[in-house]
Amino acid sequence: MICVVALTATTFVSCNSDSENVEQDQELAQMGEKLELLGFNIQDLHKTTFNGVEGYAVEGDIFLTKNEIIEMSPAISVSDDVLETEHYRTHNVVTSGRTISVYMDAEFNSTMQAAFDDALARYNALALTIKFQRASSEGADIDVLAEKLAKYRGYTILGRSAGFPDASGNPATPIVLNSDVYNPRRGSIPADAATVIAHEIGHAIGFRHTDYADRSFSCGGSYSNEGAADVGAEYIPGTPSGPEDGSYMLACSNGTDRPFTTGDRTALTTVY
Ligand SMILES: [Zn+2]
Repeated sequence: MICVVALTATTFVSCNSDSENVEQDQELAQMGEKLELLGFNIQDLHKTTFNGVEGYAVEGDIFLTKNEIIEMSPAISVSDDVLETEHYRTHNVVTSGRTISVYMDAEFNSTMQAAFDDALARYNALALTIKFQRASSEGADIDVLAEKLAKYRGYTILGRSAGFPDASGNPATPIVLNSDVYNPRRGSIPADAATVIAHEIGHAIGFRHTDYADRSFSCGGSYSNEGAADVGAEYIPGTPSGPEDGSYMLACSNGTDRPFTTGDRTALTTVY
């Protein structure tokens, strides 16, 4: 009798976790299909938790919840052309005329605080229709926080953005920078700190990876182009076609400081 109960219990637990796994696999596949329609590279798509919230990481440093993925509408397509490596933005952007407060975690040292000021100054130097202002406490329009980010498939995740602007024109928050890399107990701060901060802010205000159609351009590995016809990426007129070396919105960093290129500036001043 005891044996039967034990067996039943074991079987039940086993069945339960199997069906959960199947459901999770189905959801991952569904999210992948939707993200592909939106023009994302889903090669490294995986389920994860970010800032205490369950969701999906895509293209390495973009975090989206299930609901955000469901609600993202395929926006204006790039006619019927195959996606190229150009500058793209999401359908939603930040409301024009806003001053966006940005908080930098006080845990970061003075070098990082200076890199943060540098990143905001790079945006403000372009006299965009949105401005960035340092906030003195957490709970700003965008918070930049320190958190240890686990490696994924050998990639060191430098930072992560909480997705893209919402339908009301608010930027995404928070941004997390990998504290193993940018808040080290020992060693120096990498040269690309200001670039990586600017990059994650770029996502928060609606910019996509410039090389998302072929991440191998900046990340190495195998060529990967989804070639989707109906995508949620809006091409920014006037930006260069083909992958742009040195763009701050490349999917992977080469470790060097990369101030805005001509194409980056065109993208920013066109959208904002
Ligand atoms: Zn990114």
